[in-house]
Amino acid sequence: MSSTHGFELVETREIPEINSTAKYYRHERTGLQLLSVENDDDNKCFGVGFKTPVDDDTGVPHILEHAVLNGSRKYPIKEPFVELIKTSLQTFINAMTFTDFTLYPVASTNNQDFYNLVDVYLDAVFYPNITKQTFQQEGWHYEVKSKDDPLLFKGVVFNEMKAAYSSPDRMLGEKTRVAILPDTPYAKSAGGDPAAIPDLTYEKFVSFHRDYYHPSQAHVFFYGDDDPEQRLKLIDEFIKEFERREVDTQIPVQPRWDEPRERTEKYDAGDADGDSSKSLMTVSWLLTEVSNEEDMLALEILDHALVGTSAAPLRKALIESGLGEDMTGGGLNPYMREALFSVGLKGIKKEDVKTVENLVMETLSKLADDGIDKDTIKASLNTVEFQLREKNTGRFPRGLAALIQIMPTWLHGGDPVDRLAFEDALESVKKKYAEDETYFEELIGKYFLNNKHRSTVTLEPDPQVKVKREAAETDRLETVRKAMGDHELELIINNVGELERRQQTPDTPEDLAKIPSLSLADIDRKIKPVPQEELVAHDAPILYHDLPTSGIAYVDLGFNLRSLPTKYLPYVPLFGRTLTQMGTESEDFVKLQQRIGANTGGIGTTSMTSKVVTSEETNADDTAAYLFLRGKAMVHQTGELVDILRDILLKVKLDNRDRFKQMVLESKARKEAGLSSSGQMAVISRLGAHYATADWASEQMSGISNLLFLRDLLERINNDWASVLSDLKEIHKLLINRQAMLANVTLESDNWKTFKPQLETLIGDLPTADFAAQNWSHSSLAEREGFTVPAQVNFVGKAVDMYAAGYEKDGSYITILKHANLDYMWNRIRAMGGAYGGSMFFDYPSGTLSFVSWRDPNLVGTLRNYDGAADYLQKIELSDGELEKAIIGAIGEVDQYQLPDAKGFSQMQRYLIGVTDDMRQKTRDQLLGTTVADFKAFGVRLAEALKKSKIAVVGSPDALAKANEDLDEKIDIANLL
Ligand SMILES: [Zn+2]
Repeated sequence: MSSTHGFELVETREIPEINSTAKYYRHERTGLQLLSVENDDDNKCFGVGFKTPVDDDTGVPHILEHAVLNGSRKYPIKEPFVELIKTSLQTFINAMTFTDFTLYPVASTNNQDFYNLVDVYLDAVFYPNITKQTFQQEGWHYEVKSKDDPLLFKGVVFNEMKAAYSSPDRMLGEKTRVAILPDTPYAKSAGGDPAAIPDLTYEKFVSFHRDYYHPSQAHVFFYGDDDPEQRLKLIDEFIKEFERREVDTQIPVQPRWDEPRERTEKYDAGDADGDSSKSLMTVSWLLTEVSNEEDMLALEILDHALVGTSAAPLRKALIESGLGEDMTGGGLNPYMREALFSVGLKGIKKEDVKTVENLVMETLSKLADDGIDKDTIKASLNTVEFQLREKNTGRFPRGLAALIQIMPTWLHGGDPVDRLAFEDALESVKKKYAEDETYFEELIGKYFLNNKHRSTVTLEPDPQVKVKREAAETDRLETVRKAMGDHELELIINNVGELERRQQTPDTPEDLAKIPSLSLADIDRKIKPVPQEELVAHDAPILYHDLPTSGIAYVDLGFNLRSLPTKYLPYVPLFGRTLTQMGTESEDFVKLQQRIGANTGGIGTTSMTSKVVTSEETNADDTAAYLFLRGKAMVHQTGELVDILRDILLKVKLDNRDRFKQMVLESKARKEAGLSSSGQMAVISRLGAHYATADWASEQMSGISNLLFLRDLLERINNDWASVLSDLKEIHKLLINRQAMLANVTLESDNWKTFKPQLETLIGDLPTADFAAQNWSHSSLAEREGFTVPAQVNFVGKAVDMYAAGYEKDGSYITILKHANLDYMWNRIRAMGGAYGGSMFFDYPSGTLSFVSWRDPNLVGTLRNYDGAADYLQKIELSDGELEKAIIGAIGEVDQYQLPDAKGFSQMQRYLIGVTDDMRQKTRDQLLGTTVADFKAFGVRLAEALKKSKIAVVGSPDALAKANEDLDEKIDIANLL
């Protein structure tokens, strides 16, 4: 057996599915496993993963995930991770805690940058400085500033999980997993239950690292066009001090049940009085080990057939029952040793739980008996196959998507290479289906109807949950406090002071310089233009981008929203959904969805709104706003794609009250869920609405205004469907107009020759009418707004108008904001404030600068920190080296990796808002030339702008009421959830 750098080659396999050669190695001395995937993808990806099973709810893997990124042997600074985000060209960098493993992935398109990232990450996981202080900062500690103050718990993960535990959707997922896998580590919380996190000791934390973060336990993954031998060499070098160490990390298979089980849990209903119509539920089955490749692929197709689209029979039955607002469960979950399948409803009455459960069972039984519609199977087979081949992972590196896909198999003893080579399993499934038409129905019998390992979980609202949880925490803290002598309390106060001091003390320049980084000389000074040809067909512009898409045509049809009067704006996202989800005059929506699934890679809608950059001063025509119908298909499918688009646009059937109402209910439920988990989006949107018509319109379409509109719309659907229908018809008439549209295509030139005439014919078939852009009139919002939601944390926002304060746009703002976000904002809002994050955003078309924090335990303190940003910038001192790093980090931000379809879409967006390649180059030149004086000047303008600011907060009622006691200028508080 040959050995290279201490590695034994176990298996080599060509994987044409991903144009790769995979080599699977084992390190001879330590047993470290390494999967080396060689291909020509320049978005190189590396990951190191460890199995991290838990036996309690203290969240030790999650806290460790945060803590190891707080400095290591070679890089003894506070946060190497933040330093890398600041200074590298990374296309991905993060760390993730899954239910039974922890993963540290990075990606970059630059070779040297890639090695730099790998080096810092390996040092972090194998040699972290996990001191008591990092444990306290990231995990938990007692917080008290003076002897008269009450004792509190504080810590980054503690706060993060408090927010997570106040999300009913998250709790449902957690309780579902616990219920169905009660005899395994999956019955515990890897993320951490806030009630249990303070049970974690430093000793256990350190021993967890020693046992599980050992090379003998490590799964290392490389992917891309870097030198394969270098991979082995650098890993071998890194682990030379380690010997083999055996630790039992085996996760048992869950013993199967003879009878289905049920359980009911409570969740925090906030201040609502336990409204009985707000329960959530799932029905779940334990399926098979994820290493069972063929069944897993078949189950993936079955999952799509059952719940993958709005027309899928199980989803449809649930939604159409009218018993709840939206589906829960998410279907197939392949991320643990054994796969689960869960479905259910939320927004239901608790007495309906049994009815929903029966409905699920009856629907499955009927499908098994009568057979699943053949067109549904055909659509699901095509869709899953299209996705496997397209590998469109969006901004997520393809290598990382592959890694996450194989991890569960790899960790539990399966062959990681098998998981990447899908062709055999796909052929086998297709063959079995061709030979036996009842193949998928038999799977329903095997995995659902005859599978007794089933659990039904109900989550009921209970206002006492929060009260009890808070009381338990207070009691616990008071008991600790009473048992403490003066001396002990003093030590704790000192410790808090120490933690703050540590946080505030900057790293030394010598230590910071140890983080490897590129130099400005390595940076491309020129922008990378995206090819674009401008054509016209029947008065409509077509933008064509000649990019290699592997024979897939990507087409976007954009309809100018300026055709619509103001009052129709809130309808836009719903109207977009009606196009693909209501059916046409000749096909109901099930048939339409089947046709889309069987013949294309998918059709969807999205909208964009932005201020146009070329208009210097505010005028009527400064807003670009479009609704896009986006489709994709293999080139041999484009004829069918065009036919479907034509039917959708010309023959959409709007008169279906029940179907429309379901969509409104779903949208409303999703918005409400989003407010508690990611309220920062609503906050930013609300703030932007003050300054630019475009952003005001966007808030109408997607923000808090839209939620209010949806609630009102539900009433109107019930009481006055005729008026809703006439609105929808009017929108359709105004919007589908080839005088006010454009098309955008991304495709190789050879294939474009085939597709172009098809597209031109389609455009010619669309209605034509004179177009005059509407002027949108809008009322103003209160300057300081607070919206209460039943969360234990806040999303705090503040915004200013930089242009009104005399700032003139200069590309240096990208460097300035990136640096300030990772230095000042990160330290103040996250590290010291305990929020999950905080950031400044600058919308250069409008000049709006917004500050926002998410999952933030503070409110007034955060607002003060925002104000402090101006002073921070005015007084900033940066060495040449620091400035250079900041610039490189900012370039990484501008040069985000994009797949061809995303490049084409971005280029069209730039076209619509008036950004030319010359402007992009100028911005890049300015960015590359950022000086310390630019930082200071930005700070001066920010100080000026802050004199007139707007505030928006989504947060807990207590925090908002308390804030108004402290603030001179009161916040207008409205109850939102
Ligand atoms: Zn976390």
